[in-house]
Amino acid sequence: MNESTENEFSEDWAPFIVDRVEIGLFALDKEHRLLLWNQFMEKHSGKKADEVLGQVIYDCFPELPRKWLERKINSVFLLKNFAFTSWEQRPYLFQFAHNRPITGGIDFMQQNSTIMPMLGKDGGIDGVCISLFDVTDTAIATRQLNETKAALEESNNRDGLTGIYNRRYLQEHLLQEFERARRYEEGFALIMFDLDHFKKVNDNYGHLGGDAVLRAVGKRMTDLLRKSDIFGRYGGEEFMLILPGTDVVGALTLAERIRVAAESEPADWDGTPIAFTISMGISIYQPGHEKPEDLIQETDLALYHSKKSGRNRATRFDPSVHTEIG
Ligand code: GH3
Ligand code: MG
Ligand code: MG
Repeated sequence: MNESTENEFSEDWAPFIVDRVEIGLFALDKEHRLLLWNQFMEKHSGKKADEVLGQVIYDCFPELPRKWLERKINSVFLLKNFAFTSWEQRPYLFQFAHNRPITGGIDFMQQNSTIMPMLGKDGGIDGVCISLFDVTDTAIATRQLNETKAALEESNNRDGLTGIYNRRYLQEHLLQEFERARRYEEGFALIMFDLDHFKKVNDNYGHLGGDAVLRAVGKRMTDLLRKSDIFGRYGGEEFMLILPGTDVVGALTLAERIRVAAESEPADWDGTPIAFTISMGISIYQPGHEKPEDLIQETDLALYHSKKSGRNRATRFDPSVHTEIG
């Protein structure tokens, strides 16, 4: 020991600091027996130093991820380098309680740790010292931030009135589907539909009645679709359906089910029934299509044809018939 003067650091203080510092500190020998166990570790584990010192750590704490931790610690012995563990990779080593009021699914104190080689005078390693940091606050804040970001992103993709996907999302996914179809030569179908005489619905029931019909469309059609289908409100009273891996027959079958789903039951506007029908245009991806807008244009022409020929029906685009609107 050095002699200490007033202005010098005395090594006698070191055990006091190790014990009182607000991080967990413990040390292990080559057999992973405990050599040191500070107050932080005592307080959070409920086990006193004299209960655990000299014991193999895994015997005292069976909850430790033994295999994984052994590998980490042994690599420090071998390489004489520091190693780290992070809560993002593994939320905790010890099952320590935390006392945060909002836990949001966080069950135990979240921990980061550093494993340091303790070099002896001969250059060999006497053991490893592990410092354990309580990062529960960081973990909670990061999780909340990620949840908020995800919710924001989700709401960016949703239509406010109906809750189904919005135009922005549809356009993005139509492009994705188009590129996928092109790359893998795997077709898809596009259906656009428009409510029939919707101006009359608004005239008869008011805008709020019309809104109730739009919400009913969103809900009712969603129930008919497969998970991989993408359905959204393209604008006003126009809706789009992107149907991956769907051919003409599949698209026509679904279109008929949608048509019937609309026609067969009125929308319920707080007890007032409002009958409605829809007209559809269908386009099937072909290798000759150059861009997604080509398919949209085809559905527009086919939809126009459905309207002209009496509404409440679906038309598949046919280049020899549906050449222009008007
Ligand atoms: P068609 O059968 O030819 O489609 O006739 P239509 O009356 O439906 O004609 P069009 O498609 O041109 O009319 C769209 C109407 O939809 C006009 C517009 O006021 C109404 N609309 C668009 N967005 C909304 C909305 O968010 N809520 C309500 N209530 N009405 C809307
Ligand atoms: Mg319209
Ligand atoms: Mg309409």
